[in-house]
Amino acid sequence: MKMRSSVAIAGIAVLALFGTACGKDGSPEAKTPGGTGGGTAGAPGATKPELPSYTAKEGVALTGSKTFDNAKKRGKLIVGVKADQPFLGSKDPATGKYSGFDIEITKMIAADLGFAPDKIEYKEIASTNRENELVNGTVDYYVGTYSITDKRKQQVSFAGPYYIAGQSLLVRKNENAITGKDTIKGKTVCSAKGSTPLQNLQNNFPDTTTRVFDTYSLCVESLLSNQVDAVSTDDAILKGYAAKDPGALKVVGEPFTTENYGVGLNKDDAVFRNAVTDALENHEKNGDWLKAYNATLGLSGSAAPAIPALVRS
Ligand code: GLU
Repeated sequence: MKMRSSVAIAGIAVLALFGTACGKDGSPEAKTPGGTGGGTAGAPGATKPELPSYTAKEGVALTGSKTFDNAKKRGKLIVGVKADQPFLGSKDPATGKYSGFDIEITKMIAADLGFAPDKIEYKEIASTNRENELVNGTVDYYVGTYSITDKRKQQVSFAGPYYIAGQSLLVRKNENAITGKDTIKGKTVCSAKGSTPLQNLQNNFPDTTTRVFDTYSLCVESLLSNQVDAVSTDDAILKGYAAKDPGALKVVGEPFTTENYGVGLNKDDAVFRNAVTDALENHEKNGDWLKAYNATLGLSGSAAPAIPALVRS
């Protein structure tokens, strides 16, 4: 957690560099992830961080991977994502285009498997349906704030971690009573079905009432309409909502869990998992990871953290 506060200072420097004005309490002005347009322009002359570009590898062969063979046959990848998480996985309703850090991760992997970004079909999948879709093979892989847990590993496998988040709290801007996890007793807190933060609330906060929806954007709507007192999930997700609506929302307290984000995979395809891990390693080493972070998730207010070590076992 020490690292988080030190990078926060660096974050202010990065934001200043990109001309992002800070609100009264230090929350950044709303911006749109790179690539979708329509964001706040920033100060005149400010440089907007650019997304990496990816070149699909040629002649990729993954002997023994059923997932890869199926994708090759159909001529495209089908990837599960989130569509309502700003700066992570977000679908522009006007253009139908997806953007965000998780979307960049899907493109990095696709490129090394031999698929250009236009050969990816995105499928929006809610937290609670991830394991089922991966077990049934309806998606080739899943990238959407998906925490690696032992329980999930009984059904699916993961490549990663590629990012570390932590459970946090989002409240209305005028909320003074909720300042962190120790102040949610007697409060109603919203989270998503099938998520680790919901599980944590229900297991470890017996005096807190939970409200459950399929998506976090529905939780945010109920927060804004005074139906719940807070929304709880990963800080990375909550900071995005706050950055999009800094006049109405704020993230409070310190993160109180560790969420290792992994790429969700079918459990039976070790060859494919190896190739996805190789792809993550390649794009972390060549600078694409950092470039993608700065042009997406970095815009919601935190400078790039250290890249976590990949686990191959
Ligand atoms: N990372 C947590 C999880 O996988 C929360 C975010 C989400 O639901 O996608 O459950």
